[in-house]
Amino acid sequence: MAFDVIVIGSGFGGAITSCRLQQKGYRVLVLERGRRWDKTNFPRGPEDAWVWDSDKPEHCNGWLELRTFPHMSVAVGAAVGGGSLIYANISREAPRWRFAKGWPPEITYDELKPHYDTVKAFMNVREVPDNQWTPRMRLMKEGAEKVGLGDRFRKLELAVTFDEAFTYDDLAKGAAASRSSLNAHGAEQGTCVHLGNCDIGCDVHAKNTLDRNYLFVAEKAGAEVRALTIVTNIEPLAGGGYRVSFDRLENGARIAGSETAKLVIVAAGSLGSTELLLRCRDVTGSLPNLSGFLGRDWSSNGDFLTPAFYASRDCSPTVGPTIASAIDLYDGDADATFWIQDGGLPNLTRDYLDRMRADPATGFETKALLESMQWLLRRDDPLKGVMPWFAQGVDAANGVLTLGPRSAVDPRLRLCLDWEIERSKEVIDAIVSMHKRLSYATNGEPLVPPTWTLFKNLITPHPLGGCNMGVDVATGVVDHAGRVFGYPGLYVADGAIVPEALGVNPSRTIGALAERIASLIP
Ligand SMILES: Cc1cc2nc3c(=O)[nH]c(=O)nc-3n(C[C@H](O)[C@H](O)[C@H](O)COP(=O)(O)OP(=O)(O)OC[C@H]3O[C@@H](n4cnc5c(N)ncnc54)[C@H](O)[C@@H]3O)c2cc1C
Ligand code: SF4
Repeated sequence: MAFDVIVIGSGFGGAITSCRLQQKGYRVLVLERGRRWDKTNFPRGPEDAWVWDSDKPEHCNGWLELRTFPHMSVAVGAAVGGGSLIYANISREAPRWRFAKGWPPEITYDELKPHYDTVKAFMNVREVPDNQWTPRMRLMKEGAEKVGLGDRFRKLELAVTFDEAFTYDDLAKGAAASRSSLNAHGAEQGTCVHLGNCDIGCDVHAKNTLDRNYLFVAEKAGAEVRALTIVTNIEPLAGGGYRVSFDRLENGARIAGSETAKLVIVAAGSLGSTELLLRCRDVTGSLPNLSGFLGRDWSSNGDFLTPAFYASRDCSPTVGPTIASAIDLYDGDADATFWIQDGGLPNLTRDYLDRMRADPATGFETKALLESMQWLLRRDDPLKGVMPWFAQGVDAANGVLTLGPRSAVDPRLRLCLDWEIERSKEVIDAIVSMHKRLSYATNGEPLVPPTWTLFKNLITPHPLGGCNMGVDVATGVVDHAGRVFGYPGLYVADGAIVPEALGVNPSRTIGALAERIASLIP
């Protein structure tokens, strides 16, 4: 065998398991479909590589994939570092009572707690310093107080490197105010200067992304990470171990290859891992005995966003960490079904101008013009009066992922989602009603998206499940330790194994589960 372990995907599940197993002395290979990114090549202009297209990844391999299904669209990352490159950095434990049902008995809050703490420490998670509250945090606190929930206002824990000395007086300096140094793992990072771009890549590397902690340590310890490599099949070998087949994306072409290893850890995310295993079971037939539960009980994690408009209030959604505070209805309340967060928006126009200004090909006069436009945009942000109220909730986790033909005339198989909204409607309506209360209480005008009011369509960045944990092959695809039922040495370790809606941002729980899975591999 060329490797001891092949890890498929490099998001929270893949980065953490590859790091821990390489540290244990295994020879680890990570296969990741997305590119390597850093602040020099993040997409900014309209012509840049924003989008990943599963139909033609050899030509279109940007870092965000949007999958659309009836009544549900799902946003996922494609990058070395997975969703962490474009996520909003919130790192939050799931409430204790979310483990009361639907999980194997081994998985409890107390069991995960040490792993939650490890992820928090490794990713350097902390709250926004008290001298750096964003305007949206102030609005959130005021809203909470006005609707009688002042005691539930919380600052959120973020995987961001802050500088206590930074103040909003430094805001106009932009990226220049960031201080660069090596983090605890030896990777270079800057400090947060509230540029508001967390969801499109931090221009100063203040986000504690996986490529600057877990993956960085894995590679330093000897793990090999191959970017632009799409895994297409997993096949058991006579005598043990697996052959993993893949397509390497090179110069607009797909070049087939394969590697072998004793252990394989599938960590391609909720949709990616489920689709890969469905193909192995139902198309290539290489893993015919995978559980009949595969694809069932998928959850959108109850995500919902309601923008509200304020005529005379500065909400500045383009300034500061994308999300930084919450009204924590879960805190001590086992009946709560959702919580509220502030949301943010990157200022794409300003960023495009920034990028053009920095381009050596831009002429002197154009640069001077851009300079003044960019200065005006920093002063007079056109989105200033918008507050994106955000939330997650406990939906019914009753989606079913399968493979089906693209259309009546196109028999090529693609991932399909059967999402029945009826049982989750109540929680979304409760979120909408709280968003409206908060908006009116603070003199805002909410605009509930017609995609919900008219069409009952949702969009989520938090897909969960598809290869769910269960107690046996009849109730799940993997056991409590991520081991695939019926296939020794094959694991799933990512958001696909989460069997219930968490109702909060999921990365910390996925990370804790991955830490636990790696700790149980001898
Ligand atoms: C815009 C946005 C904001 C978010 N904000 C937050 C937040 O603030 N806090 C939070 O907790 N969560 C947030 N999330 C969700 C979070 O990013 C995910 O829950 C998390 O990344 C899931 O981890 P994972 O390991 O399951 O999968 P991922 O991080 O998605 O990693 C899977 C990796 O596998 C790769 N892959 C897929 N298929 C293949 C294949 N066939 N071969 C090789 N590689 C493959 C993908 O390219 C990807 O890099 C956000 C997500 C988005 C999109
Ligand atoms: S607010 Fe800006 S500087 Fe801070 S983490 Fe987000 S993108 Fe980076």
